Amino acid sequence: MTEFYRSPGRWFRGNTHSHSTVSDGRLPVAERFDAYRKAGYHFLVLTDHGKVTDVSAESREDFVAISGSELHPPNPYGGDRYHFVAIDIHKPVPYDDRHPNEVIREVREQGGLLVVCHPYWCGHTLRDLAPLQGYFAVEVFNATCGRIGKSLSESHWDDLLDEVGPCFGIAADDAHGVTEDVFQGWLMVKAEELTLESLKAALAAGRFYSTQGPEIVDLEVVESDVTLSGGAVRRAPVVRVRCSPAASIVFKGQRSRGERFLAPEGEALTTAEYPVIRGEKYVRVEITDADGRRAWSNPVTFTK
Ligand SMILES: [Zn+2]
Ligand SMILES: [Zn+2]
Repeated sequence: MTEFYRSPGRWFRGNTHSHSTVSDGRLPVAERFDAYRKAGYHFLVLTDHGKVTDVSAESREDFVAISGSELHPPNPYGGDRYHFVAIDIHKPVPYDDRHPNEVIREVREQGGLLVVCHPYWCGHTLRDLAPLQGYFAVEVFNATCGRIGKSLSESHWDDLLDEVGPCFGIAADDAHGVTEDVFQGWLMVKAEELTLESLKAALAAGRFYSTQGPEIVDLEVVESDVTLSGGAVRRAPVVRVRCSPAASIVFKGQRSRGERFLAPEGEALTTAEYPVIRGEKYVRVEITDADGRRAWSNPVTFTK
């Protein structure tokens, strides 16, 4: 689950959610890709609402352009319509009057990966999210949703991890404009090579973390002797993270489980560890730097 931090391969930076003038974005397709290439990204998924565009002309030797779409099936569970991002599909997927799971199924039949987008902005709760099947990730951060202060869907992700099961977390721009919702949240994907196949395999397996800037250098789980509060010693997994200088490192498990480490005044943290001794189903790590920018690891899951 965390071996990829130390395995061979390279880190590639990418954004899985963006719009062009093909739907409601402000830049034409070529300019949208150009902006991300110039910003040093290795891949970008174009996800215009209900549209699929052939973006193959935008790939370069050091950049992979990926076609996708944002899909909005109606919600039979009472909430607003869903916002799904499909990564690597090549034909439009009709969604009006279709059950959301039927839409997800068709995306997968096309070989695509599906992300549940910005649940906080949608007002979605477990009522809307728990019935969904076949997605691989949920957006934990969406830059454009910051316009109403609802960029962060951390508790939605935790609810899914607690009540439904493992799923990955994605930081994305959902770029519509040219300044306010670009280059604010992205993925660092560890892949063998910079190809669509290699990137997709890494995404599907969770070999990535999400960030607004902080770097997760290493994450590992080591079996160690842990001293419990009563003094007894027990063998238990310990989650250990190394990162770029941070103001805080937080380990989160379900419900009341977890721990926050704060850097002393004028100092920074670059490592922390957390013993898994409270029946955690999962532990995920959030790093915050001195400027308030965050990074999110994918969850490490445990069975009792
Ligand atoms: Zn959306
Ligand atoms: Zn969008």
